[in-house]
Amino acid sequence: MIYADNAATTAINPKALEAMLPFMTQCFGNASSTHEMGQRASQAMTKARMAIARCLGASPHEISFTSGGTESDNQAILSAAALGRNTCKTHIITSAFEHHAVLNTMKKLETDGFEITYLDIHSDGVIRPEQIAEHITPSTCLVSVMAANNETGTIQPVAEIGGICRRHHVIFHTDAVQAVGHIPVDVHEQQIDMLSMSAHKFGGPKGIGVLYARKDIPLINLLEGGSQERGKRPGTENIPAIVGMAAALEDACERMDESQKYLIPLRNRLTDELLKLPGAILNGDYDKRLPGHINFCFQGGNSESMLLLLNQQGICASAGSACTAGSMEPDHVLLALGRSPELAGTSLRLTLSESITPNDIDVIVQAVTDTLRIIQNDCFANQ
Ligand SMILES: *Cc1c(COP(=O)(O)O)cnc(C)c1O
Repeated sequence: MIYADNAATTAINPKALEAMLPFMTQCFGNASSTHEMGQRASQAMTKARMAIARCLGASPHEISFTSGGTESDNQAILSAAALGRNTCKTHIITSAFEHHAVLNTMKKLETDGFEITYLDIHSDGVIRPEQIAEHITPSTCLVSVMAANNETGTIQPVAEIGGICRRHHVIFHTDAVQAVGHIPVDVHEQQIDMLSMSAHKFGGPKGIGVLYARKDIPLINLLEGGSQERGKRPGTENIPAIVGMAAALEDACERMDESQKYLIPLRNRLTDELLKLPGAILNGDYDKRLPGHINFCFQGGNSESMLLLLNQQGICASAGSACTAGSMEPDHVLLALGRSPELAGTSLRLTLSESITPNDIDVIVQAVTDTLRIIQNDCFANQ
């Protein structure tokens, strides 16, 4: 089987798994317990928090553990909105191609009286920083733009957006779930005030993530309970997952250059080969994309049938986000890029990890070629 769906989730990094195991076996204590077993768990969490802070350019007390990207997005946006409401600022800027964790939180705020501006996306899948400056008003309390898109893989000008927000004293949140561990992210250099990340997108376990919030930004509670995470995120901490996330992130950051050097040429070769196929259109800029991320539309194709046929040939791919697979709504990200609903229904996302081999690339190219031959023939026969 060839796994080319790493934007949906990644395999666990062996170093992360190894780091986790002792905290599920010999050292399973509750980090709030005062005995030796609890204290060891608590110390492991402190170490993990420091390691993650170091990787992001943050301070350890600016890192809080959540259940993943979705929760971090919700808590970040609702916290900034609460602050905004206190100062009568109820305007928020975001983009039309955010993850649903962001978009649906914005929808909720809209029904709560907030005004949301959804920025158009340039056809290359990259936001222009000027768009942010144009839309900021005195009542803007938050700008939320993702660091890299989960469907097209396009990388956004985070540092420039951060600079603009800082100058206007507007909080800048970025959903960096696809970026962290894959491309450099530094909250200080890029002037990021709040950031969401999720371990299972970079070789960590599922169900654990981080919300980074600059030290002077108060967080609201999504849950009420004990005093964990300074009372802002109660519930017994998932120490094995926290330790695994830190190990996966440290490894991903250490090997980032090496990994990019391996993946980018393979990604480019796959892109070039697929571009030769009939009706092929690359979604998003050729270069400003994540190292292993490709997204195509194929005129006369059909996402569902393509995925089925590729699956039969042992290839795990996706049509867009895992969250919309199974629903036949046209993909909101591709629509935001200006694709027609019909064309958006022909998308294919291939997201590679380092476990992909050059030979796998040949296999994928052949499989997509064969798949398209079958589907496009059908399509033309039916006309
Ligand atoms: C996967 C993903 C999320 C959701 O993260 P979970 O940890 O699965 O909740 C949010 N944003 C983006 C961009 C993602 O790719």
